[in-house]
Order: sequence, then C-alpha cells, then structure tokens
Amino acid sequence: MTRAEHIQALLEDYSRQRTEDEADQERRLAEACQRAPRIAELRQESASLALNAMRSILVEQSQEERKAIAQRMKARGQAINAEIRALLKAAGLGEDALDMRYRCPVCKDTGYVGEAPARFCDCFEARLRLRQHEDGSMAGLDEQNFDHFDLGRIPEADGQRVQMLGARKLCEGYANGFPNTESRNLLLCGEGGLGKTFLLNCIFERVTSRGQSAVRITAFRMFEAMRQQHTGNDEHFDGFSALIEVPLLLIDDLGTEPMMRNITVEYLFTLLNERNAAKRHTVVATNLTPAQLRERYGERVASRLLDKSSGRIVQLKGKDLRQR
Ligand SMILES: [Zn+2]
Repeated sequence: MTRAEHIQALLEDYSRQRTEDEADQERRLAEACQRAPRIAELRQESASLALNAMRSILVEQSQEERKAIAQRMKARGQAINAEIRALLKAAGLGEDALDMRYRCPVCKDTGYVGEAPARFCDCFEARLRLRQHEDGSMAGLDEQNFDHFDLGRIPEADGQRVQMLGARKLCEGYANGFPNTESRNLLLCGEGGLGKTFLLNCIFERVTSRGQSAVRITAFRMFEAMRQQHTGNDEHFDGFSALIEVPLLLIDDLGTEPMMRNITVEYLFTLLNERNAAKRHTVVATNLTPAQLRERYGERVASRLLDKSSGRIVQLKGKDLRQR
C-alpha cells in the first residue's frame, strides 16, 4: 500500500470512529432521558432556541432589540445547560455524562488539527507510522521508535553511546510501564542533535501503540494553544484544556516558543501545576540547561520542571548525531 492509500484507509477509520462516538453519546443520552425525562424537554428547547431567535431577529427592525434577543438566547442556552448538568448529577450520572467522549481529545477524532491549512493530528501520524510499519513499507524512512534504535550512529567516544543506552533503557521502561512508572515526569535535557526528540517520539509511539492516550506537541504549537485560549479564540480547537487533561503529555523543544507577556510563563505554570496536582505524566525535551530554564521561566515553573520527587532528569551530552 502506498502512503496515500494508508491515509485514505485511516481517514475512513476515523470517520467510523466519529460515527461510533456519536452513537455512544446517543446511548448515554437515551439513558439519561430515561432517568430524568426533563432532560429530553430541555434538549428539545435547546435545539430550537437558536432557530427561534434567528426567526425573531429576522422580523425585528430595531438593532437594539435584535441584540437583546441574541443575548436572551445565549442566557437561556446557558441556563438550560446548567439545568441539564444539575439533573444529570441528581440522577447519579455525573455532570459530563452527555459530553462527547473522543478517542483523541485533541483532534476530536477527525485526524486533523489547526485551521486551514490543517495538518494531521499526532494521533493520526502515529497510527499512520504504525500502519506503514506493519505493512513493511517504511524502509528508508526515519523510524522513531525503540525497535529502530540504531546505536551504530552514536559515537562511542566520551561515553556517549553508554549514556544513550542508559537513556534509552530509562525511556523504554517508562513507556512500557506507563502509567505505573517509577517517576511520573521526565525531563530530557541537552543540546540539539543528541536524540532527545527521538527518545520523546519513541515514548509516544510505544505508549500509544499500547492503547494508552498521549499527546505529543512542540512547545511552539503548545504556545499557539495557550495564545488561543488567552484571546478566547478557542471555538474550533480547545487545545489547552486537552493538554491539561491528557494522561501523558510530551512537550518537545521547550524553550523555542515565543515569550509573550502574561501568556507563556503563566500558562506553562498553570499547565504543569494542574497536571502535577492531578498526578498526570509529563515528558519534556529541551535544549536549555536547568539554569537557563530558571532564567527563562522563573522559579515557580523551573521548580516544577526540575522537581526530583516527581520526575527524573535525563541529561544528554556529546556530539550532534545529525552531523554524522
Ligand atoms: Zn488526534
């Protein structure tokens, strides 16, 4: 199969998954309505709310009254949602019982992320690699997983190969054990070209191929999610909350994202702090040294990244592998 054929087949699989997601939500809805029939009425009202408001707006001449109609619609919509959540709770179902449950919260099982031009979600790329790998058509392509760990590429001098073997063992143990790992967090430190991204991708590939949920993201894209959250431009991509909630988050290239006042440090702190409080696993790769992390992000963020009670620091040193 060619890459294009694999992509086609995977997109069909994603489409089936979305149908399943919806059917699953329908089942939960049916059960909720059975336990609390009022929910069905509220859902009905909610569905006709926007349409009714639009009809009223169309026949209304006054600009002010149009605005008021839109506002009333929004307020009623919020009240309906609050009432539904309260009813769900009272019925013993949990407030989020009717929320969509996606296999991948980042792309909502579409396989795509971002606005046009959208790109494939990490979950899609990982499954594509897996398919191609199983198909044996990966020859010659860069393979970012533990099974294709080529030690021959790593210089023996100055203990670099031994060091990489140790790092690989640690990372593979982490990926195999997840979520029952010795340390909850990993910080992969070292200059560019020492294999940090490779190790991070290996962990991601192993954890996802074990059926666990993980998101891999570059610091740059993570910053985009933060910025969107901050500007309230979050309608199509509620990326930041997904980053807080995913069981395993892998952040690559921390330190390359733009430094924006009131955004970068504050959101990064919130992200790390919330994840730590919820005991979720985080893996970070960075070219920065611990001292540079302190300098760039301040003590609050640095102390969470460098905290030895919850995490391991893997320091890589040596020659740039890309130049060989
Ligand atoms: Zn996805």
